[in-house]
Amino acid sequence: LRSGVERLGDMIAEAKTIVPFTGAGISTECGIPDFRSPGGIWTRYRPIEFGEFVASQDARDESWRRRFAMEEIFAAARPGRGHRALASLYRAGKIPAVITQNIDNLHQASGFAAEHVIELHGNTTYARCIGCGQAYQLDWVKRRFIEDGAPNCTVCDEPVKTATISFGQMMPEEEMQRATALSRACDLFIAIGSSLVVWPAAGFPMMAKNAGARLVIINREPTEQDDIADLVIRHDIGETLGPFVGN
Ligand code: NAD
Repeated sequence: LRSGVERLGDMIAEAKTIVPFTGAGISTECGIPDFRSPGGIWTRYRPIEFGEFVASQDARDESWRRRFAMEEIFAAARPGRGHRALASLYRAGKIPAVITQNIDNLHQASGFAAEHVIELHGNTTYARCIGCGQAYQLDWVKRRFIEDGAPNCTVCDEPVKTATISFGQMMPEEEMQRATALSRACDLFIAIGSSLVVWPAAGFPMMAKNAGARLVIINREPTEQDDIADLVIRHDIGETLGPFVGN
């Protein structure tokens, strides 16, 4: 590990523009389970696809039941060492923005301005109408849910969903464009805590590499893209990035 962290330190020192790309693994030390590790969410639930959510009140009710079952976990989560290390490099002017697959709001909580967190898969800490996009607080959804099941929008009567991107749902266009531009413009791209199997998000490391950036992958298990990386640190994220907190 020590030599990996030293090499990472050299690469960070040499880089002008670092773009981190984060997945569920950066938040496991914050108490939020990832998807694919043993005990992860997918070993318990089959995901509800967007088409099912749109088509069925039962699916919407189930989707909100699952979200409320996770309520305390998301509400109690605080940024971990990985989030704090990235926030330190952001404050130091090395990181223009973070690209994340996470929906937990922890990069914002660690000090990134909201406009510098590019959320490819949305955010689960609030809700939106799938028709007109009206935003809602989860407290409002919960009150309505308890009375009457999964609610519809008070403006246009379409269903209200967590502000996340489900399987089968369109990727957010502006975020995809911004993530593309950042990946192409950086000289160091660090993929952190992602199994790199969910597309199109998993395309960004390769895009950065092809545009000339160095690629670092930090993940405790092998990923799909280890073979194209300049440095793979197969270790715990908190321990690996802990030395960069507060720099
Ligand atoms: P994933 O579950 O597929 O992969 C997470 C990877 O992180 C795994 O390979 C695991 O080995 C590794 N990992 C976990 N804890 C680690 C640690 N402490 N140190 C080092 N490595 C660690 O997650 P993904 O690639 O982000 O894709 C899953 C999708 O699920 C994402 O699109 C995301 O939207 C969503 N999701 C988000 C959250 C969240 O917001 N925190 C949580 C679960 C799932």
